[in-house]
Amino acid sequence: MPDLDGKLTETETVRLTEWYKKNWDHQFKCPICGSDTWQTGQHIVETRPYRRGILGGGPIYAYVQVFSVQCGYTVFLNAQIMGILDPPPPPASPVGTEKTDG
Ligand SMILES: [Zn+2]
Repeated sequence: MPDLDGKLTETETVRLTEWYKKNWDHQFKCPICGSDTWQTGQHIVETRPYRRGILGGGPIYAYVQVFSVQCGYTVFLNAQIMGILDPPPPPASPVGTEKTDG
């Protein structure tokens, strides 16, 4: 998983490089300025459902951001679908429900 600041780790960067080799169209041009020069942001970013001003709760979606170097147009790629992130850990058992062997 990214570090606490969301910065891509070395492992994630390797996975991302492999993903680009398999999936990114290197002829892909920016729909705004026409440049084919892109740069990957160093951080995973997130979005969450709008909940009418209520903070917290609900799912969070993680994205890799890819910028057009010339104009700043940004492509957001779902990091979970890309396989960049480790799967989330299983939820912890509530206190007092741990299994014991005797
Ligand atoms: Zn552009």
